[in-house]
Amino acid sequence: MTARARPGARRPVIGVSAYEETASWTVWTELAALVPARYLGAIRRAGGVPMVLPGGPGDAPELLDRVDGLVVVGGPDVDPELYGAAPHERTDAPRVERDRFESELLVEAYGRGLPTLAVCRGMQLLNVVRHGTLHQHLPDVLGHSGHSTGGDEYLPHDVDVTPGSLLAKALGSGRVCIASHHHQGIDVVGDGLEVDARADDGTIEGLEDPSRDFYLGVQWHPEVDEHDVSIFVALVKAALPFAAARPIEGAG
Ligand code: MN
Repeated sequence: MTARARPGARRPVIGVSAYEETASWTVWTELAALVPARYLGAIRRAGGVPMVLPGGPGDAPELLDRVDGLVVVGGPDVDPELYGAAPHERTDAPRVERDRFESELLVEAYGRGLPTLAVCRGMQLLNVVRHGTLHQHLPDVLGHSGHSTGGDEYLPHDVDVTPGSLLAKALGSGRVCIASHHHQGIDVVGDGLEVDARADDGTIEGLEDPSRDFYLGVQWHPEVDEHDVSIFVALVKAALPFAAARPIEGAG
């Protein structure tokens, strides 16, 4: 299933936050603006057009002028200084520029009512932007490592989606099996956010702002599910009116 634009209408453009990371290709190993291609593929399969948004200081407003929806992708831990905590020994080294750029995207997109999906670290950053806090190492809190082994594999586990939530509209309420890869989690929920999904151990797996039509965070990785892109379909669908209203560059 994809979100269909009216015949002749433009497909929604979905911005995806990129980040600078050292990467290797052919003979080069150097700093690159990176987005895992799984996100781009999921957006295409859902009927949208992905657009990579490179992180640059102060660029968020102009970048968001050109998109109809936003995905903030997963990645390393949010700097604990942003929520007033000292770093845990297992917390990643801070990525100050990335935290700043993605925070600007989240705040700016919220102000515009732009449909937004924040994935994994993206949801954690969203919570911190709203003055919430994080558990820095879930195994310390839960006594198990069921949300990530720390390696490159995704662990499947079930989550319960709250009936009546924005997330339930996108996925259906009830239990879903998701792909998990996180060692941190939500502690205090940020201002204006509501929990819309939990794992059996109580871990918060989804947050949403009910004052918007589509402003969601998920703790899991929907982009790795090759069979089910329904959350991206819901995002693209929510972006359709923005695509219809966005002025065409150079026109008029
Ligand atoms: Mn999980």
